[in-house]
Amino acid sequence: MEKAKTYALPKLPYGYKDLEPHMSETQLTIHHQKHHQAYVNGANAGLDKLEKARKESADLDMKSTLKDLSWNIAGHRMHSLFWENLAPAAKSGKPTGPLLDALTKEFGSFERFKKEFTQAAASVEGSGWAALAYCRELGRPIIMQVEKHNANVIPTFRILVVVDVFEHAYYIDYKNDRAKYLEAFWNIVNWNEVNKRLQDLLKK
Ligand code: MN
Repeated sequence: MEKAKTYALPKLPYGYKDLEPHMSETQLTIHHQKHHQAYVNGANAGLDKLEKARKESADLDMKSTLKDLSWNIAGHRMHSLFWENLAPAAKSGKPTGPLLDALTKEFGSFERFKKEFTQAAASVEGSGWAALAYCRELGRPIIMQVEKHNANVIPTFRILVVVDVFEHAYYIDYKNDRAKYLEAFWNIVNWNEVNKRLQDLLKK
């Protein structure tokens, strides 16, 4: 029987030092190699557990198994999106074309979007993410404030840009100062990638 696919830690699209001074080499290395890797391992362990139970015709505690699986897969997916929507400051680019149009139309201005997104990220209770998502039904961008990796998510909304506000994302560089980390985040958003995400999704 062909072996089922499993998750793997993706390579970063830049070097560990390349986001400095906004995100340090140590911070990024630990975040990617330890924290993200842990979600990949956890997701694969969850899939293994299900596979094993099926082979042995054993019963599982479905509630806790699927809760863990959701946490770990979502952790892996969110981090993968996050790395791809970051870039060295010099290559950060800016919102253009359909993205700039959509943000301006929805929020009134790019500055207003930035403010709302920052406030969403700053006010996540505990650990989570802010995400700019896109509702295809309405053709409107909508901000999601995600708790953990997977709560308050609006299903099927495609994500354009995310920021990780787990303390593990910034404690080495900014201690407990989430606001300072968010200020730095805006310097390293890969707008070219975000532009592309929206363009790709509008094509379909
Ligand atoms: Mn993280």
